[in-house]
Amino acid sequence: MNTVSDIINALARPNIRALKPYSSARDEAPKGNGDRIMLDANENSFGGPLTEDFSRYPDPHQTALKAALAEMKGVLPEQIFLGNGSDEAIDLLFRAFVEPGQDNILTMPPTYGMYAVQANIHGAEIREAPLQANFEPDLLALQAATDGHSKLLFLCSPNNPTGNHLPREFVLKMLQEFPGIVVVDEAYQDFSTQTSWLPWIDQFPNLVVLQTLSKAWGLAGLRVGMAYSNPFVIRLLNKVKYPYNLNAMTLRLGLEALKAPSLVASKVADILLERDRLQVTLPRLNCVEKVFPSEGNFLLVRVKDADGLYQYLAQNGIIVRNRSREPRCENCLRITVGTAAENNRLLELMGNYLPQS
Ligand SMILES: *Cc1c(COP(=O)(O)O)cnc(C)c1O
Repeated sequence: MNTVSDIINALARPNIRALKPYSSARDEAPKGNGDRIMLDANENSFGGPLTEDFSRYPDPHQTALKAALAEMKGVLPEQIFLGNGSDEAIDLLFRAFVEPGQDNILTMPPTYGMYAVQANIHGAEIREAPLQANFEPDLLALQAATDGHSKLLFLCSPNNPTGNHLPREFVLKMLQEFPGIVVVDEAYQDFSTQTSWLPWIDQFPNLVVLQTLSKAWGLAGLRVGMAYSNPFVIRLLNKVKYPYNLNAMTLRLGLEALKAPSLVASKVADILLERDRLQVTLPRLNCVEKVFPSEGNFLLVRVKDADGLYQYLAQNGIIVRNRSREPRCENCLRITVGTAAENNRLLELMGNYLPQS
């Protein structure tokens, strides 16, 4: 009772374990030779109104995009789930593992808001172990909150909105002792000095690593998120997803984007230079109390008057995220690193701001 398959099956919801997924017409047909005439899916064989042809359903297995990602990341295609953003992967983890009204999930606020939203949608109890001073994890609180119904633990590293990464020993300990799935959300991994947890999916059956093309890859509008884990977890996620969850345009453009990693790397380097510049210049401003160190493409900034400054920036055309109502984020704004020109305007406006208290 401890093969990876057994462990994952024991964690999965019984109805999902037993689920026979939708089988697309094309999966059932034996493969013949040469071009095929497709009269199986009630598509419009005469084509659509656009110059580009979207008349056919996209590949439900996303074979080409997974092959490219597998090669880039050094994993097997069977270890990759592709979602309509990593937000879809978060949703499906609940569907696969969390029994409504019975199971609980753990988060460490302040963190990404989607974990709690999905928990509420799926009727899961949220147990919180808030981060401590310096945004360090609270191991004892986490252990005290965990029980036999704890199915998902969300570890966001680097963490949104605090910008720090979680200590390696802490994540390792959780992988060793947490009874459910440990989700390491690495949305900001490409900006970080820390190594990814991706290689550890072979070691720990309960590890799921989330990544995305939305941040460093600059493709938030395309909607491509990845979940990496062992093939048994991936199979469960594939069972519960919509068959055609990534559309044909996303599949085509996603594949094209993966061919240009050096272009992405150079833009990430530019962002990091700008982040370092803001890190140094923001604290010189009157309205700024502290800029927290960041491993992401954003900075958490403690100011004298977060609500007032937020309003003032918005009225002057700069939208930032007011996180001042999150635990340990009193008077904090989360500011995304922009282009040099955007950051200059931000610094100019903030330099002219007169705090209200
Ligand atoms: C932005 C963000 C995501 C969302 O990614 P999508 O792939 O665009 O859905 C996931 N996790 C964290 C922590 C994020 O900040």
